[in-house]
Amino acid sequence: MEVPLLDLRAQYATIKDEILAAVSEVLESQRCIGGPKVAELEEKVAALSNCKYGVGASSGTDAILNSLMSLEIGAGDEVITTPFTFFATVGCIARAGAKPIFVDIDPRTFNINPKLIESFVTEKTKAIMPVHLFGQVADMDPIMEVADKFDLAVVEDAAQSISSTYKGRKAGSIGTVGCFSFFPSKNLGGIGDGGMTITNDELLYERLLIMRDHGSKPKYYNNYIGGNFRLDSIQAAALLVKLPHLEEWSEARRRNAAYYDRGFAGTVVQTPYIRPDCTTIYNQYCIRVPRRDEVLRHLRANNIGCEVYYPVPVHLQKCFVSLGYSKGDLPEAEKAASEVLALPIYPELTDEMKDHVVSTILSFLR
Ligand SMILES: *Cc1c(COP(=O)(O)O)cnc(C)c1O
Repeated sequence: MEVPLLDLRAQYATIKDEILAAVSEVLESQRCIGGPKVAELEEKVAALSNCKYGVGASSGTDAILNSLMSLEIGAGDEVITTPFTFFATVGCIARAGAKPIFVDIDPRTFNINPKLIESFVTEKTKAIMPVHLFGQVADMDPIMEVADKFDLAVVEDAAQSISSTYKGRKAGSIGTVGCFSFFPSKNLGGIGDGGMTITNDELLYERLLIMRDHGSKPKYYNNYIGGNFRLDSIQAAALLVKLPHLEEWSEARRRNAAYYDRGFAGTVVQTPYIRPDCTTIYNQYCIRVPRRDEVLRHLRANNIGCEVYYPVPVHLQKCFVSLGYSKGDLPEAEKAASEVLALPIYPELTDEMKDHVVSTILSFLR
């Protein structure tokens, strides 16, 4: 039996006619950048997240970059973040001209350990950038406490966590600004690249709009240097078709996760820990497993998709050697990088497929 890590065709089959109609509507209008579809999506994603303003972006990466640029974070500034994340989080800090400062993770949740943050705050610190990894929100209360104490911005990288909750509050709505990605493999994925920034801060909202369009306002008059961070109308139209399904798709992922949890109970496989005050959307279902690389090869040899998110913690990436980190500096992140394995969790998985994944892993480890 073949079990892919993700099968977007299964989902597409259920909404194909609506997507084609929505794309066709945009094409007929030839309103390909901005316009009513983008505005509607911005409103709906902001509302879903209990936030006032949404600003569409060309990708999750650009949503993060625009946030940092709009907060005027750049050369000479430091941004505290996690080393256990997708590269874009840290890439954006560096591209904005600031210096990433890494704080180790909580091994249970894989998210930044808030207890460690304060000791890394300096005169140069401008922001904290927590990442809500795999669908679960980082422990935001103590993060916000440090931010308030030192007057720091908080940029939530919620690329993997749209609509998940922390103490009843939505991902991306707790800090100064929240960033989403609509990369096709995210729970709310477009038919290409896309992203969004949400905020409750009206001045920041206005700045995000200006910076998204090269920093120009009025048109062709630049007080700032921004970029082209705009969202395509076709993406917005497709995302508007998918948005009403987001909750049911995330619920199906939670059901799949509960099924796996039962299958692995009492074995050497460590299943994801979800805090009792959080709801996750399981963008990934990551287990910790002994002999991880052997298990990975065995699964792939048996036509079961799996992936390591992420094999190299960002502080050890070659491009960041100049930051001066070495192996052993952030032990929990490094340990996680050597033990995690993401299993297929997409909504359309059948019980037979999940049984097959569980038994293939357990029979190999036995
Ligand atoms: C996907 C992702 C991004 C980047 O989003 P893109 O839309 O691919 O640019 C940033 N951070 C995290 C944690 C992500 O998972």
